[in-house]
Amino acid sequence: MDANEKTDVAPLIDVHGRRIEYLRISVTDRCDLRCRYCMSEKMTFLPRNQILTLEEIAIIADRFIARGVRKIRLSGGEPLVRRDFGDLARRIGRHLDRGLDELTLTTNGTHLAEHADMLVDAGIRRINVSLDTLDPETFAFITRGGDIAKVMAGLDAARSSGLSIKINMVALKGLNDHAFVDMLRWCDAQGHDLTLIETMPLGEVDEDRTDRFVPLSHALQAIRQEYDVSPLSDRTGGPARYFAVDGMQSRLGLITPLSENFCAGCNRMRLTCQGRIYMCLGHEDHVDLKAAFRSGGVAALDSLLDSALASKPLAHDFRIGADASAATVRHMSVTGG
Ligand code: SAM
Ligand code: SF4
Repeated sequence: MDANEKTDVAPLIDVHGRRIEYLRISVTDRCDLRCRYCMSEKMTFLPRNQILTLEEIAIIADRFIARGVRKIRLSGGEPLVRRDFGDLARRIGRHLDRGLDELTLTTNGTHLAEHADMLVDAGIRRINVSLDTLDPETFAFITRGGDIAKVMAGLDAARSSGLSIKINMVALKGLNDHAFVDMLRWCDAQGHDLTLIETMPLGEVDEDRTDRFVPLSHALQAIRQEYDVSPLSDRTGGPARYFAVDGMQSRLGLITPLSENFCAGCNRMRLTCQGRIYMCLGHEDHVDLKAAFRSGGVAALDSLLDSALASKPLAHDFRIGADASAATVRHMSVTGG
């Protein structure tokens, strides 16, 4: 059976009645940076034979689209370090306007300059670029050696290619928590939106995240001292809440998994680079689509997806604090942020 064949178009509805229309795919766990909150310095990556092939990812994506997924975000690890990324993006992009409404990407931006035109060619119109600071030294510290100039060149190229850009900034105490207003002004001047993110306890890293955790109420307070900020009703299918900032074109987004749980409206599933479906970023429950697909083909995918839907938890149970260990052993780079 062709994965696109809609022989059974049962939509993906979980046990809590939430309709799954959004799939995030981590196309690789590898990365050229080592952000302190995301990975340990000596990160061990998965052996290549455990990673889904391009063909497997494309077939699984086909099946998700056939069952009602309307938006796909490609992430990682760093998606642009995967050699066949362009082919994959183009292959999934063929579904745009034929079932799929939007294909997006989350990237650290270091390889954007080479790839911006290819992204547009594949049908991608909006990207998220992670940038936690505008200061080159702080950037090198947070990413353990990254060169901010490459990200800036990537952002310029992406803008010239016509991509619309949202900057993701993880709030980190003592590193960037004095710079929320500066980042917002810079984003507005560049024509980018800004989303602030609370650090989440995913995978062991070398640091204690408690030391770096900043509730985003602090960021909002700092911004409100200088600007009127009003909530917007916009949702993009992701977990962010959005705000308009008086006098600015840029939209401000807040992702607050710790201080304000966002799970009730969760419409997402996550496919990892090794072919597992995790029902929630904060739980270990998963099903192994790679094993099912390799032994039973497309038909086996469907029955496994149905059992995954029966186990999607209502909410994550992240905690951060002295007695709290990582909620999951796997890193965000495996699941796809
Ligand atoms: N490498 C790409 C990037 O950095 O944009 C894509 C993958 S990265 C895992 C996706 C997003 O997750 C990034 O915005 C990153 O800042 C965020 N992230 C990673 N680990 C996190 C954590 N422990 N808590 C909160 N956000 C995290
Ligand atoms: Fe790499 Fe993105 Fe994780 Fe940073 S946040 S280490 S860029 S995967």
